[in-house]
Amino acid sequence: MSKIFNFCAGPAMLPTAVMEKAQAEFCNWQGLGVSVMEVSHRSPEYIAMAAEAEQDLRDLLAIPENYKVLFCHGGGRGQFAAVPLNLLGDKLEADYLLTGQWSKSAVVEAKKHARITETDIMTTTIDGKVTVKPTTEWPINAGAAYLHYCPNETIEGIEIFDLPETGVVPLVADMSSTILSRPIDVSKFGIIYAGAQKNIGPSGLSIVIVREDLIGYARKAIPSIFDYEVQAKADSMFNTPPTYAWYLAGLVFKWLKEQGGLVAVEKNNIAKAALLYNFIDGSNFYSNNVDNSVRSRMNIPFNLADDSLNDTFLSEAKAAGLLTLKGHKLVGGMRASIYNAMPIEGVQALVEFMNSFEKKHA
Ligand code: PMP
Repeated sequence: MSKIFNFCAGPAMLPTAVMEKAQAEFCNWQGLGVSVMEVSHRSPEYIAMAAEAEQDLRDLLAIPENYKVLFCHGGGRGQFAAVPLNLLGDKLEADYLLTGQWSKSAVVEAKKHARITETDIMTTTIDGKVTVKPTTEWPINAGAAYLHYCPNETIEGIEIFDLPETGVVPLVADMSSTILSRPIDVSKFGIIYAGAQKNIGPSGLSIVIVREDLIGYARKAIPSIFDYEVQAKADSMFNTPPTYAWYLAGLVFKWLKEQGGLVAVEKNNIAKAALLYNFIDGSNFYSNNVDNSVRSRMNIPFNLADDSLNDTFLSEAKAAGLLTLKGHKLVGGMRASIYNAMPIEGVQALVEFMNSFEKKHA
């Protein structure tokens, strides 16, 4: 079989080296004669592995001491509910910034628990590209329990690199599709959360990085498994955690360290994204309508000049070993998700295919 590249937005491709390691020790983990999936999360072997995974993540993101790292159930959407339930305390209001479908979905969940002020921070440039208003124009409301935003909108392909100054208002970020793609200054955030199935590992797990002083204010009715205080006290093992996903995330963290950490990973991601965007920009057949300053390095949506060719594009791409390029149903077109695990060869193969498809059909 020739090389297959999977451009799925999530669950996304995982590093081949990680999969091979997992495969090699699938039935006999650490010489125990059983799979890691069959081992108790209370066993010394599992606890040591879990702690090492956390430490590796702390090293990669330079997470300060005064932050807890939680390995939770429920993916990204689980945190759409957990964030308000944990952070509102006796406050009634929270602020949400809107940049696309995922930030909007977060609002729908939060509205069940709080008075939400939503602010659309999208705008267009003079040449008609979609962009995000400068952080200095973002509303900061001192009465809000927190300010929530999504630094990478997976569907629209919008990534926000600048950080706002929010003063005493905790900044909460849904980093599901950008976490670990570049270094970030964790100390600027109250909470960072992410569903795992893009840059971390398999689905079912979400990572929450939470500043300690924000823990302990959960609403009484919160389900215990979503209570950061309960999970922090139990080292994320209040109940049975998603053990296989946690293990695999640990392997991904080790792989990221071997790549040279996030500085090296970011360099590679910049090169991969530039390759694809430059090709799209140089063509009259393909287009991307996001302004350069906020173009996602992880999710690159694009359109064909003629929509009626979409199905042919997808089937010819599949035949060429390039999978899952269909855009999200809400926006249509195409989308190439090129997370950390996508090698530059995958992007080169995509560009070559797009080039020959254009020559054939333009
Ligand atoms: N936030 C973002 C930015 C996402 O891309 C996704 C899923 N694609 C989610 C949240 C929801 O994640 P989950 O399916 O794990 O609930």
